[in-house]
Amino acid sequence: MDIKTTCPYCGVGCELIISRNNSQMSLAGDQNSPVNQGMLCIKGQTLLETVGTDAKRILQPVVDKNLVSWNQAIERIAKLFTNTKKDEIGLYLSGQMLMEDLYVAKKMTQKFGIQNLESNSRLCMYSTVAANKRAYGADIVPVSYADIYHAEVIIIIGSNTANCHPVVFSHIKKSSAFVVCIDVRKTNTSELSDLFIQVENGRDMELIADLPQQNWFVGKKVLSVYSQGLTQTTDATDKVNSLINMHIQTGNINKKGCGVLSLTGQPNAMGGRELGISSTDLTASEFFSTPQIKTLWVMATNPAHSMINYRKIDNLIVSDFTKTLTTEQADIVLPAGSWSEKSGHCKNSERRYLMQNAFLPFAGNAKADWEIICLVAKALGLSDFDYKSSNEIWEEMAIDTSWQPQIKVREQLVEINSPARDYQPVINNGRLLAQWHGMGRTGRSKTLNKLTKKEANIESIHHISNNNLFKGRAVELDKYSKQPCFKSVKI
Ligand code: SF4
Repeated sequence: MDIKTTCPYCGVGCELIISRNNSQMSLAGDQNSPVNQGMLCIKGQTLLETVGTDAKRILQPVVDKNLVSWNQAIERIAKLFTNTKKDEIGLYLSGQMLMEDLYVAKKMTQKFGIQNLESNSRLCMYSTVAANKRAYGADIVPVSYADIYHAEVIIIIGSNTANCHPVVFSHIKKSSAFVVCIDVRKTNTSELSDLFIQVENGRDMELIADLPQQNWFVGKKVLSVYSQGLTQTTDATDKVNSLINMHIQTGNINKKGCGVLSLTGQPNAMGGRELGISSTDLTASEFFSTPQIKTLWVMATNPAHSMINYRKIDNLIVSDFTKTLTTEQADIVLPAGSWSEKSGHCKNSERRYLMQNAFLPFAGNAKADWEIICLVAKALGLSDFDYKSSNEIWEEMAIDTSWQPQIKVREQLVEINSPARDYQPVINNGRLLAQWHGMGRTGRSKTLNKLTKKEANIESIHHISNNNLFKGRAVELDKYSKQPCFKSVKI
């Protein structure tokens, strides 16, 4: 039996086929997929090494470190929500949750009157959302992967696409375009590009303004591709608008092979962005720095590992499929279904709705995120949460899934207001080809771990004080990954 599904890692959205023959399973890229045309990177190829249970898999609800029934856990959450002021409750979601999960989470918070709904995808996406609204009048991604094959020049800026979105990079390398990489550091992408321009930290806006003078630019159809190198900085919205401005001024927009493509980090970052999963009150990082939030429900993400300003929350609820630094600190831990056990939709970087389909039963007592949220909503006395399947939720959402490769956008130049700044030494981080986020899934793959050890000279850093960057630091291995390349540095 063959089951078609979508890779749960990056926002490229590669489709794959799982073939089951009795207890044997195999996996291959879907040759008929317009997204990846059969291609998969090493993370996609090794997905079957990451399914099933291991010692870290969460199989049963836990309250105050004791195994409990679902009823007991849900009752406790309902009590916490009822006894906490509404503006002191938060839900922190993830771009790895499916459309149906995000939709019921938003519905529950709206019905119960919680303002503080946020997703980790805000960290990388919302500067692009703001920039698109300023330039195009709405958050529109006007181009698609098809434009890669129509472009004559592709500028990759602030993105190590070869590591972070490998199948998009394969499309780029298969095209006949002249590839220009702009980054502050040498990467796999810069090595494999036709031209590498090493920009000083924070000087990208000046560089973008100069690009149209270059010989390789003049008279060519230009496509720009970017990710967190532009979007995770304090003046990120202006940086994205500088790039869009440059495309508008040179006529490289609203034509095949021309425009600006943001590469989304997670499989459903685009979907969460379009559903408007964003707090009306606090920013994503403020969820973890303000004492305002007393009761926080974190789903499918590991902020204790990744948030620089993470603090212990009074009442912490975490849904996840695997133990993490965050589940370790939680008062209530809920066993969520894993990628291989859940069905629903996600939306990739080029705006296509794709299906993730279950091919294994839920491990232990795990449940889909949407189902867990519905249990809590019903325990809070809210109506209209009696869904029998994710299909019923999808029908209620009534989303138009039609897709077009190019969308015409308004061409509004935006005034850039970011002041010139004197840049201090800055730490730059990135992603390894063979690992993903906090390694909750990729860390289960022997193949990926072996590949990672070969990159042991790379150091990823968090919990760092910029001022004391290079002073007497003690290095320790990441508690869960035990990988030498994922070191945390304490000053
Ligand atoms: S490129 Fe991204 S979506 Fe495609 S197989 Fe690799 S990790 Fe998965």
